[in-house]
Amino acid sequence: MGQGVESRPLSCRTGFSAKEGLLYRLEQFREAYLRERRIGSEDDVLERIGRVFAGQLHYRSGGLRSAASARFLSLGIGDDAALISGTPGDEMVLTCDWFLEGTHFLQDKHPADAVGWKCLARAVSDIGAMGAAPRCFLLSLALPRELPSSWLDDFLGGLRRAAAQFGCSLAGGDTTERREVLINVTVVGEAKRGREMRRSGARPGDLIYVSGRLGEAELGLRLLRERKRGLNMRELRLQKHLYPEPRLELGRWLSEKRVASAMIDLSDGLSSDLGRLCEASKVGALIRSDDLPTVRVKNVDRKTGVDPLELALHGGDDYELLFTVPKGKATRLPRKLGGVAITPIGEITRARDLLVANGDGHSRVLNPRGWDPFRSSK
Ligand SMILES: [Mg+2]
Repeated sequence: MGQGVESRPLSCRTGFSAKEGLLYRLEQFREAYLRERRIGSEDDVLERIGRVFAGQLHYRSGGLRSAASARFLSLGIGDDAALISGTPGDEMVLTCDWFLEGTHFLQDKHPADAVGWKCLARAVSDIGAMGAAPRCFLLSLALPRELPSSWLDDFLGGLRRAAAQFGCSLAGGDTTERREVLINVTVVGEAKRGREMRRSGARPGDLIYVSGRLGEAELGLRLLRERKRGLNMRELRLQKHLYPEPRLELGRWLSEKRVASAMIDLSDGLSSDLGRLCEASKVGALIRSDDLPTVRVKNVDRKTGVDPLELALHGGDDYELLFTVPKGKATRLPRKLGGVAITPIGEITRARDLLVANGDGHSRVLNPRGWDPFRSSK
């Protein structure tokens, strides 16, 4: 039993009834709890970032990639600016990528950990598509002041895991306050001089290949949007949408072996990104729909009207590689690299149309209908 001091009715000391006093105290606890959970200041954000990324140059899992990143980034976060030292014989490769709440992710659907992983994976994918290796990145981050600090911690956890996986160290960045979460990531990478992969090298007769399976990420997004409960976050298609894996190993292999003539990563969808590669190379393409590595459709997906071909042609966010290979070099290409399938899907043509042919040999024009932030219908 207690000492009886607190057992006196609260009304004796405060003028409130016992129940009102209890509610008042609960409210105080709740406010204190929420205060603690909100982001306190810019210094608080920087302190959390510094804590999560402390010792990042000694990643255990990154191996050789991390060693290269550590050599490259001679001074990282903590000063006014970072210092980098390029590897002799390499060229530096630069890219940046927005990742915005409401446009690229939804606060109530996407776990913060996945937002952290994906904002870096998307930018790193562009480095991989150049046949380059990522080295370090800058993070620009705008956060609402009422955002729970647990969201920031989860976000940084996902970002840190991605950084370790891709061998890409945080070099610095900037933070500010804004109504929605706005993220911009700039990645610096390196490619062997003269070995970088461009979009402009495809020639008529070259064969067209893709890595992995197309449309999985788009299907994962639909699952995330439509199903409210009972979603298995470990399901492959959801994983592909939430935690994409840039094809860095394949990109480097194609560049170092001089096998591919042109390359681009599939961020917006095959119909849009193939169009970009063909435009840059001043060529056209013929895709065979039967050869596309489409998603395996389950009965439940069939009922909801999922069309694997449409997903493969126009679905975004796969971050697979699309590349062309001169016919004479095609035999050097393995069917798989690093566990990722490589599939021939068509041929580059002199006529500057994009066509897709079905099994009967009938072809139709393939219009770009992938992701486009300026098109409201998508
Ligand atoms: Mg790209």
